[in-house]
Amino acid sequence: MTGKNGCVVIVGSQWGDEGKGKIVDVLAEEVEIVARYQGGANAGHTVHVGSEEFILHQIPSGILHPDRRCLLGNGVVMDPFQFFQEMDKLTARGIDAAARVGVSGRAHLLLSYHKLLDRAAEQRRGAGKIGTTGRGIGPAYEDKVARQGIRVADLRDAARAEERLRAAAVRVNERLSLLDTDERVDADALVAEVMGIRERLLGIMVDTGRVIHDAIRAGERVLLEGAQGALLDVDHGTYPYVTSSNTTAGGAALGVGVGPTAIAEVYGVVKAYTTRVGEGPLPTEFDSPMQEQIRELGGEYGATTGRPRRCGWFDAVVVRYAARVNGLTGLAVTKLDVLDTLPELQIAVRYQAGGESLEDFPGDLGLLAEAQPEYETMQGWESSTADARRWEDLPAAAQAYLRRIEELTEVPIRYVSVGTRRDQIIHVGR
Ligand code: GDP
Repeated sequence: MTGKNGCVVIVGSQWGDEGKGKIVDVLAEEVEIVARYQGGANAGHTVHVGSEEFILHQIPSGILHPDRRCLLGNGVVMDPFQFFQEMDKLTARGIDAAARVGVSGRAHLLLSYHKLLDRAAEQRRGAGKIGTTGRGIGPAYEDKVARQGIRVADLRDAARAEERLRAAAVRVNERLSLLDTDERVDADALVAEVMGIRERLLGIMVDTGRVIHDAIRAGERVLLEGAQGALLDVDHGTYPYVTSSNTTAGGAALGVGVGPTAIAEVYGVVKAYTTRVGEGPLPTEFDSPMQEQIRELGGEYGATTGRPRRCGWFDAVVVRYAARVNGLTGLAVTKLDVLDTLPELQIAVRYQAGGESLEDFPGDLGLLAEAQPEYETMQGWESSTADARRWEDLPAAAQAYLRRIEELTEVPIRYVSVGTRRDQIIHVGR
């Protein structure tokens, strides 16, 4: 991390699951605050500390470092029940999470009826499904934009909150009846459920924008952590196969309540290859049996859903695009070790589509569907990188592969991750 004052944004720069959790965990060492700026409990960060594995869905992984404050910004949709479950689990494992977490009063609540709606709508889509995780994220953001969401701060006035919950139950039941499902929201149960956590939630409410602003002024450093990846951004991703929020760096300022000038650095996390979960385009997708081989080597199964991820070669068209829309100032390349046994590697440098050669990632899904990647072949290193701790420790062919990624994306590599553990990281140039 450079010495510039301000926020450092960590943004997934492919289709999510890039290993952001691990990179945030490494960088949390150097900051005072870690804040999440969008997404909900569909993010599943896996962090290994010693022999322990932690899977965190909502609480930023910075919580695993002593003394770090961990915040959820206004851009997040918060599932308070799952949040407290996660917090209690951490507490049970000896981590003093309760004293160090905070949630923006402007963050929207994701409640049980959002999950009901999510599953019912996805079922109804049948073959046209968009591959949601069924965790209610889409419907919670829909409510936010439709100005009918319930925010954390809205619980302060209990009577008014109850009124709004009852109105939501009526509205949701109308929707459910149109979605061919017998499931219904029980308004009394909903009110009881939410009122049951009301005080606990209000107890951790903060103004994230204010806290971050003050921290920066005091010379502290703040990490803004994104969920999913740039290609899942509702504006810049492969719409409609995207998530419902702005995952890209612009969303970071919006999602915690600071201006863009508060951002000093933007680090893009990318795997040394490419993966995506669910439906939608993936131009460099492997054929069988390479697909199965990399899936097994990389353990490419979703941390939240267990769904097998689709895998493919590193796509420089995708990452070059992500570099541009995020204004990346550095790359963190993860899972280099997964490629250790391959004799040869490919990197997609451009696509052929619509009779043209495309250097830029297209916004048109039709073009993407027919896109034929043009590959450059690189030599494999066929030796283990798991013990490399400095750039010089990497085999020459691995260095050449990474240098080529830098050239093609025009972003310097700052970190290389070579295993799941916290210590399996190379700080490039240090
Ligand atoms: P995130 O949502 O971007 O944090 O990604 P996930 O946590 O879903 O996926 C990352 C997975 O890859 C986790 O199981 C990590 O432990 C693992 N991982 C992260 N970095 C590396 C690495 O450099 N090598 C290997 N082999 N695994 C890694």
